[in-house]
Amino acid sequence: MNIFISLSSVCNQVQPQLVNFQGGQGLRMDPFFHRKDKVVVIMGGTGTGKSRLAIDLATRFFPAEVVNSDKMQVYKGLDITTNKVTEEECRGVPHHLLSIADSDSNFTATDFCHEANVAIDSIVERDRLPIIAGGSNSYIEALVNDDAEFRLRYECCFLWVDVSLPVLDSFVSERVDRMVKAGLVDEVRQLFDFSSDYTRGNRRAIGVPELDQFLRTEATADERTRKRLLEDAISRIKVNNCVLARRQLQKILRLYRIWEWNMHRLDATEVFKETGEEAEEAWGKLLARSRRIVGDFLHE
Ligand code: ATP
Repeated sequence: MNIFISLSSVCNQVQPQLVNFQGGQGLRMDPFFHRKDKVVVIMGGTGTGKSRLAIDLATRFFPAEVVNSDKMQVYKGLDITTNKVTEEECRGVPHHLLSIADSDSNFTATDFCHEANVAIDSIVERDRLPIIAGGSNSYIEALVNDDAEFRLRYECCFLWVDVSLPVLDSFVSERVDRMVKAGLVDEVRQLFDFSSDYTRGNRRAIGVPELDQFLRTEATADERTRKRLLEDAISRIKVNNCVLARRQLQKILRLYRIWEWNMHRLDATEVFKETGEEAEEAWGKLLARSRRIVGDFLHE
C-alpha cells in the first residue's frame, strides 16, 4: 500500500535552511521538496475507549502499531491498577512503550519524546501507521509542540474520544470495582512499603496512595476497621479517577483552543449509555467515522 511508503530516508536528506516555520501545528516543510510521514494520535480522558479504537483501526482498516502515551503504563508492573491492555485485547497489534521503565524510575516527558521517536521511526520503516494512544496530554504536547525532531518529520491527525462526564463517571466507577475483583489490592500490596513515598514511578498511579492507610494497618486492625478502610480507599480511587477524567478533558480543550491542532471530536457517549447490540452499533458508527477521518488524512 503506497500510502504507507516510508519517507524517512527523504526526511533525513532535508537541509535545515529549507525548513519554513509556521504557526498553528508548528513546522511545515517546503511542500515542493518534502512530504512528512503521518501519525494518528488518539486522545481522551481515562476510560473513554482510546485503546479499543486504536486496536480496532489497526486490525480492521489500517496496518498500524500502537505507541502508548499513558504516563503510568510506561512503567513495569501495576498492570491491573493502571489498566494496561492485555495480550488478548491487543489482538496481535504490536504495542510500544508499555512496561518499559523500572517501576521506581522517573520516566520524563523528554524520555517519552526520545522513546516515542524511536518507536515511530521503526513503525514507519515497516510501512505501518503509528497510532499514539493514551491519556497523558503533557507527553503528547511535549512531543508535538516541543520536540523539533518529531515536528520536522511527522504530521498528525488527532482523534479525540469524548464521553459525557456523568456517563463516564459511572463507567469509571464500575471499572474500579472490576479492577478490585481482578486483583488491584494484591497488586498494590506487592509494591507497598512503609516509607509512604508516592512521588516516584508508578507509585503515583491512582490506586496506590489511596490504599496506603488500609495496607499500613491491615495486619493489626480488626475486621470491621479493615473493611471500612478498604471501602474508603476504593471510594477515593473512584473519585480520583473521575477527577483525572475532568483534568484530562480540560487539557485537551486547552490544546484544541490554543494550538488549533487538527483535532476531530468523536462523541462516544452512546456507546457507554447503551448495552449489548445497541452499544456495538454505536461503536460501529464511531469506528466508521474514525476510519473516514484517518483515510482522508492518509490520502491528503
Ligand atoms: P500531569 O501534568 O497532571 O501529570 P499529564 O497529562 O502529564 O498530567 P495524566 O495522564 O493526566 O498526565 O496523569 C496525571 C496523573 O494521573 C498521574 O500522575 C497519575 O497519578 C494518574 N494517572 C494517569 N494515568 C494513570 C493510569 N493509567 N493509572 C492510574 N493512574 C493514572
